[in-house]
Amino acid sequence: MRVPLTTRDFLDRAELVYGDRVGIVDEPNQPAPSLGEVTYREIARRGRALQAGLDALGVGEGERVAVVSHNAGRLLECLLALPSSGRVVVPVNFRLQPEEVSYIVGHSGARVLFVDPELEASLKRVEAEHRFTIGEEYEQLLRYDTEPVPWSSPDEDATATINYTSGTTARPKGVQMTHRNEWVNAVTFGMHMQVSDRDVYLHTLPMFHCNGWGLPYTTAGLGARQVVIRKIDGAEILRRVEQHGVTVMAGAPAVWNAVLDAAADWDGEVPGRDRVRIIVAGAPPPSKTIARVEAELGWEFNQIYGLTETAPLVTVNRPRAEYDDLEPEERARRLSRAGVPALGTRLRTSESGEALVQSNTVLAGYWNNPDASAEALEGGWFHTGDGGTIDDGGYLTISDRKKDVIITGGENVSSIEVEDAVFSHPAVAEVAVIGVPDEKWGEMVTALIVVAEGQQVTAEEIVAHCRGRIAGYKIPKRVEFRDELARTATGKIQKFKLREAFWPDSDRRVN
Ligand code: AMP
Repeated sequence: MRVPLTTRDFLDRAELVYGDRVGIVDEPNQPAPSLGEVTYREIARRGRALQAGLDALGVGEGERVAVVSHNAGRLLECLLALPSSGRVVVPVNFRLQPEEVSYIVGHSGARVLFVDPELEASLKRVEAEHRFTIGEEYEQLLRYDTEPVPWSSPDEDATATINYTSGTTARPKGVQMTHRNEWVNAVTFGMHMQVSDRDVYLHTLPMFHCNGWGLPYTTAGLGARQVVIRKIDGAEILRRVEQHGVTVMAGAPAVWNAVLDAAADWDGEVPGRDRVRIIVAGAPPPSKTIARVEAELGWEFNQIYGLTETAPLVTVNRPRAEYDDLEPEERARRLSRAGVPALGTRLRTSESGEALVQSNTVLAGYWNNPDASAEALEGGWFHTGDGGTIDDGGYLTISDRKKDVIITGGENVSSIEVEDAVFSHPAVAEVAVIGVPDEKWGEMVTALIVVAEGQQVTAEEIVAHCRGRIAGYKIPKRVEFRDELARTATGKIQKFKLREAFWPDSDRRVN
């Protein structure tokens, strides 16, 4: 028998098996009326009402619905309920500038846009056929009086989500995830992290980012409670861990550094000792951070590696039984590797050292971009753009990046996009944007600029020029002026040479 693997299995099971449980604890401090504590039955009911509301608008199967929002119960609801009806959810990074959001809405062809009330003013120029502020307007769309039109033929190969991700092009690409991709990712993740109905999951990860790594599906399907947190703040995370008995969280290394800082000022014992397990990815965590998480917080440290394009799960590194008796430093060293392939994943490195992946979680393609899709999937392997090595035990370590991408605070920044923004300043003759190592952000967006003859410009003017053109986190935090930039004989800027001077460890070019 063959039953299509669709994301609706997760909310359906949550309703059937855990209907009476509080499934979502919404953020209390948000501009929209908080949903408060909602059972999985109620979330499923609200999800159907949302589907019926979209039916009434004439927005049916296969249509894209974009949502730009900080973490919120209603965003979670969209992730769970929209693909269940055959619609495609497009979660958008809430830090983007209006032009960037407009591009995504236009490119995805979304006819419906839900906007966080806090972003309403700044995004007012973003147009969509149907636009609703998340809150009262959104609530009025919900139709409880009619049953939604069921998905006519549930198909695991249908697109469930499109996540726009910054890569090697000036414009972000839409990563098209099928139901099957999401299903396999969610289930494999749940198995490796041993998620169960005893878990309380705190959403420390932005839900727009790779659909919160698919964990909304995992936790719903397995009956875990999901607690929403809107703003990432170390002390607030600790308070929520205490208040809600949190057991699982996920996030980039920068999040855990913030928590470690907050823990140093925490009164009394840090909550969650021997109870919490964290899942870290997005950048290679320093082994010092790992040792500190284990010693100072007493939380279990797990690493995964992956990309939006891989749903994201590719490798996992869990503290396995063999590590129990190791010295803390050695344990941390082993946990600092990206990990071994998750079940069902094949991994190898190419001759040039690029990590290549085959898995049921690898994207169907980039939305309306066959050339980029063919390039990424060339030869039947997904090209990660990450450089690394695989040791005798099968553990992958990421040491380099083949793609021109900077990862700062866990978010990808396309160097080309920043270069475009800087270059549009009339005093700039040449520019190269690179990532340089930084304690807090992992990598810091850095612009190296050659000033045009007869012109003058300051670093502050460059930064001011970028503001409003690109999202704040993409704006160079450091600007340096040069007489010239290293080039090849054919005139191509040699980024690796420019980066060299900033990286103290010659084996490592990522942070
Ligand atoms: P994104 O698609 O925005 O989630 O970014 C994916 C990228 O983050 C990967 O291509 C890697 O460069 C980086 N990344 C993710 N996880 C890890 C990890 N555990 N170690 C090193 N880099 C990572």
